[in-house]
Amino acid sequence: MKKRIISTLVVLALLFSMLIGCMFSGGDDDANLNIIDDNYRNYYEIFVGSFYDSDGDGMGDLNGVTEKLDYITDLGCNGIWLMPIMPSPTYHKYDVEDYENVDSAYGTAEDFKKLVDACHEKGIRLVIDLVMNHSSSKHPWFTQACEYLAGLKDGEQPDLSVCPYAGYYNFSNEKVSQTYYQVPGTTNWWYEGSFWSEMPDLNMENDAVRKEFENIADYWMDLGVDGFRMDAAMHYTENATVANSDVLNWYYTYCKKRNPEFYMVSEVWASENVIADYYGSETPSMFNFDAGTAKGKLSATRKGDPNILVNAMLKYQQDFSAKNPDYIDAPFLTNHDMGRIANVLVNDPEKIKVAAGLLMTMNGSPFVYYGEEIGMNSAGTKDENKRIPMVWSKTDNTGMTDGPADMDQGIESPFEGVDVQEQDEDSILNYYKRALRLRNENPEIARGTIEKIDSLCDGSVAAITKTYDKSTIGIVYQLGDSNSFVNIGDTQLADAELVGYLTLKSKEEVRLTQGQLEMPAKSIAIVRLPKQE
Ligand code: CA
Repeated sequence: MKKRIISTLVVLALLFSMLIGCMFSGGDDDANLNIIDDNYRNYYEIFVGSFYDSDGDGMGDLNGVTEKLDYITDLGCNGIWLMPIMPSPTYHKYDVEDYENVDSAYGTAEDFKKLVDACHEKGIRLVIDLVMNHSSSKHPWFTQACEYLAGLKDGEQPDLSVCPYAGYYNFSNEKVSQTYYQVPGTTNWWYEGSFWSEMPDLNMENDAVRKEFENIADYWMDLGVDGFRMDAAMHYTENATVANSDVLNWYYTYCKKRNPEFYMVSEVWASENVIADYYGSETPSMFNFDAGTAKGKLSATRKGDPNILVNAMLKYQQDFSAKNPDYIDAPFLTNHDMGRIANVLVNDPEKIKVAAGLLMTMNGSPFVYYGEEIGMNSAGTKDENKRIPMVWSKTDNTGMTDGPADMDQGIESPFEGVDVQEQDEDSILNYYKRALRLRNENPEIARGTIEKIDSLCDGSVAAITKTYDKSTIGIVYQLGDSNSFVNIGDTQLADAELVGYLTLKSKEEVRLTQGQLEMPAKSIAIVRLPKQE
């Protein structure tokens, strides 16, 4: 009897040790993940038409995005921003004909619902582009308004009780500026089209227009959308920060009433101080154009001076939180309007990795533009060339799209497709996965309050702490060209343990011995202090 109990105990102990072994070695190794289900996310930006074609017609579609959700979660992203999906006469769809439908090139509203549900099953939040500054000139609001104005007698002013749509746009009896265009069929009416004649600007000060957009929010929220990416937010009223912030605040407040978790990220393509001012709208996120773009802080840091980024991060923290303590920064390298980061960094894989590594140590919700994670490039300044087909493979056409009709043919990606990069531990793709994994293991990276460790900030080395929920991590950057020691033993990180690192090659290691961090060229270390009670 006694013998049996002992042997049972031995078996149980063996099983237990096997279980522990599984948890800490190889395999999925999800044990260290510490993902908080809030609006701090790792986002993946998708141009649907160039992403994945599910039915072989050469056009990327919503079902294609649904098929590729595992790819996005494997990458480490748990948020998606879809560029415009509503019916539109253009390939890019930033001019909407119908705000309550899906463009048939991409699929149906049912396909969209399936995508949302699949996202939610996988813990992904889905954000869609909302183009509120202007509609398409083919939108019935605009065509009806134009017809009505064309029927007015000379000098007669519109009666909005007869045609409310005449108040939906910025019509005028004068050509106010170069971006005003003549209303078809009239000799004395003009309309504002700040981007293009076929994109008439909506009048967001008009209550009926606001009511329309509340209904549009209802439509998409009924389908399960988790947030809106607000296109061209500084143009609602041209560069009028206070008026535009009021628009953002009204819309966010409306959406949040229905869903307290609702998210909003706005495009204010301006300098850092203007972006900070828009945080006065008390909406969660503005894209960080100061960090992104070819000349932004993230690109500048590639020169090997991490202090450029550290000082910028401190400034963002100070300036953004002053306007909205609940702000969530939205940094990125480049987006669909810019030459890709591979071009900016002349296809240098090490620089591309460093840029990604730096991005992934920033606060807030980083955005990855599809294909950036495999080092895809663009060509010249033509928009279509910034939105070319995702390179799933260079040898297998499955799911490959044709891309925009007017893009230049023959733009060859400088690196392998997803299929080959997945098998290569040292690929850009696997570097992105390691970088995103660090974020998913250490919630302080996205959410922590930053402090600089001055004594370690010099030349190619910089260090900060981030504190969130009484837990403090240190981030140490060593962007020099060779292996280097960083002494953290004399700093507030003296008691910290090494919890993660990013190196250019997967086999390279960061080590921590008696307060000395040994760091390979262009590496980043994450250390953690014992939690304070
Ligand atoms: Ca298709």
